[in-house]
Amino acid sequence: MAIIQSASGPLDTADLGFTLMHEHVLVLWPPYYQQYPEAYDRDALMARAESKLTAALDGGVKTMVDLTPIDLGRDAAFIAEAARRTGMQIIAPTGFYYQRPFHFVGRLDREMTDLMVRDITEGISTTGVRAGVIKCATEPEMDPINERVLRASARAHRETGVPICTHTYPANRTGLDQQRVFKEEGVDLGRTVIGHSDDTQDITYLEEIIENGSYCGMDRIGIQRPNTDEQRVDLVAKLCAKGYASRITLSHDAACYLDMMTDGIMDERAPQWNFTHIPKTIVPMLKERGVSDAEIHQMTVQNPRDIFEKTGAY
Ligand SMILES: [Zn+2]
Repeated sequence: MAIIQSASGPLDTADLGFTLMHEHVLVLWPPYYQQYPEAYDRDALMARAESKLTAALDGGVKTMVDLTPIDLGRDAAFIAEAARRTGMQIIAPTGFYYQRPFHFVGRLDREMTDLMVRDITEGISTTGVRAGVIKCATEPEMDPINERVLRASARAHRETGVPICTHTYPANRTGLDQQRVFKEEGVDLGRTVIGHSDDTQDITYLEEIIENGSYCGMDRIGIQRPNTDEQRVDLVAKLCAKGYASRITLSHDAACYLDMMTDGIMDERAPQWNFTHIPKTIVPMLKERGVSDAEIHQMTVQNPRDIFEKTGAY
């Protein structure tokens, strides 16, 4: 066991339970709300978060890792309040998305690392919430500033020991670029999850990611593009048959609310894209394909615990 930081305070890894490794409470574009504050209805968003998180708890989810980067509106106070109101255990994030982080273009890389380390060791802003995971992202391909972000993330990871969970663009095999940079920075790849790995059909790419030592985040389950549920489940079942259940995590990349689509459109276009889809629909589909209860427990409970149990700077 190990004690890690959740949005509600210290958490024993033995209590993580069924864990979704890549989700979001809120995904927002902060400049919009800064300049059009009338568009931000916090009470309505909190009511929505409460209802979605409660549904997830009822569906058997005990812990959720929020991987919202700083530049997509990460809101630690909101996450903490949603966790407190519902009882969902939520790990709060630090880190950056794949777009060029303009604030840091002419700054020292050390400043990027320091900001993440501060979020993890002291807390985010004045909230007292300490980040428990580092997010970074590479899409459509790794460019020089993205490489700087990846190196800064790797250094913050080594200084704090919290895991790295990424966003990739598998069509360009960017998970391998991330692994190369992490490796050069001395990162133990067993403490990294290469995310969005189920957005491909290239099983040799995934085997390479796993053989290099990372976990494969199969974390866009419920989104029907570029792969359908059937294709994503087939991929997970094939990897399990090859003996890789100990290197896979499952999640949806869903959100209580994301503002990049007009309200209602998401529910209409992607009704399966919600926090209960894996426990309710995907687990039975995996079983139909011969994935055992032990393997499902491994991917949904044991692997998240193993990932968070590797603590300490190095
Ligand atoms: Zn995401």
